[in-house]
Amino acid sequence: MNDLSPTGCTNAPVLRERGQHEVFCGLTGIIWLHRKMQDAFFLVVGSRTCAHLLQSAAGVMIFAEPRFGTAILEEGDLAGLKDANDELDREVARLLDRRPDIKQLFLVGSCPSEVIKLDLARAAERLTDIHAPHVRVLNYSGSGIETTFTQGEDACLASMVPGLPATDAHNLLLVGALPDVVEDQARDLLDRIGLPQVSVLPAPRADGAPSVGPNTRYALLQPFLGDTSAALDRRGATRIDAPFPFGEEGTTLWLKAVAAAFGIAPEVVDRVTEAPRARARKAVAAAAETLSGKRITFLPDSQLELSLARFLTRECGMEAVEVGTPFLHGPIMAPELALLPGGARLSEGQDVDKQLDRVRADRPDITVCGLGLANPLEREGLTTKWAIELVFSPVHFYEQAGDLAGLFARPLRRKAILSGAPSLRCSSNMPGSGAEPRRVP
Ligand code: SF4
Repeated sequence: MNDLSPTGCTNAPVLRERGQHEVFCGLTGIIWLHRKMQDAFFLVVGSRTCAHLLQSAAGVMIFAEPRFGTAILEEGDLAGLKDANDELDREVARLLDRRPDIKQLFLVGSCPSEVIKLDLARAAERLTDIHAPHVRVLNYSGSGIETTFTQGEDACLASMVPGLPATDAHNLLLVGALPDVVEDQARDLLDRIGLPQVSVLPAPRADGAPSVGPNTRYALLQPFLGDTSAALDRRGATRIDAPFPFGEEGTTLWLKAVAAAFGIAPEVVDRVTEAPRARARKAVAAAAETLSGKRITFLPDSQLELSLARFLTRECGMEAVEVGTPFLHGPIMAPELALLPGGARLSEGQDVDKQLDRVRADRPDITVCGLGLANPLEREGLTTKWAIELVFSPVHFYEQAGDLAGLFARPLRRKAILSGAPSLRCSSNMPGSGAEPRRVP
């Protein structure tokens, strides 16, 4: 199973669609990013709609000290009648006065700030001049006009790269925000392989920001970090080519690619990972009883689609009917495409009505899609899985492989139980069986 020969879908045609798309905007990333960066504050420069999105999506954190907020642009601002910059400066001054714990302030652009062409890059420079060295002010866009929901993280991390300290050291950088417990698992595996010095972007605190330079090798933890990858390349760092650490196979290949970049033999990885690989295989097999032989379609949403299709086809016995992704970043996804079994229809971008027509014609056993499309499809008797759950749940590396497979098995089991099919009863030893997906701690 563990080969990377350039076959699979490497040369498969890709249907490129540029029509109406139905996805969450990049503001969504704030919900998991603010938990990773403990001295950061995300100030959305947007409308009441943006504030409602954040408050309802992050409602679970209502009792925590908030590390995000919205500077509301009123109708007058939108009509260009007021100087929004002066108001922004006043709001930032008030915020930083009240919250001396804030060391990094992200001004997050939204649809309204895009529409009135508020120059948040210039605002961030001006505010850094005012509040340095105590606070660094950065900016990125989470606007739904130009981003899908995982691009918010990419844009945020990319905005940090130019300010990272420089180094000539041969160092390893992991890139992507994972739940702390999963990040610890990755560090532990790398430590046992012989790589104890690992830094991570984003770091938990501004003063722990990783260094980067011409001898930095970096490994992406998420497939949606194309802009961050390009920014690191501009700093002279080199990306380690690998599939993503989803499932037993993806995790092993990812670890072997990282090990090889530092001259460590694959046999070392095999030896260190023997026990967790066996655990992952066992956990995945329990869910694969439900998934094997089932057909799956991914509508473009999270940018995890190709990696998950690879995991579900190769480790769970599913058949990928269509794998849609908002963007297909060729160089980053090449290892995944090489592994994805041929026969899947690949699509990039979205034209939602045409895509729904194809789903209706294909009638897959399960469709992975955004919240807005799930209910209409369920009403038509099609089983769905919310793509956003895949980003909010811990799904990387060996110990989560069974939970990842379980996220897809659950809706199928539920449907089978509702329709009275006896062959798909819930397996009592399946990890995560019957439980709601866990949120990022
Ligand atoms: S950024 Fe745009 S899409 Fe996102 S909540 Fe605000 S108005 Fe809506």
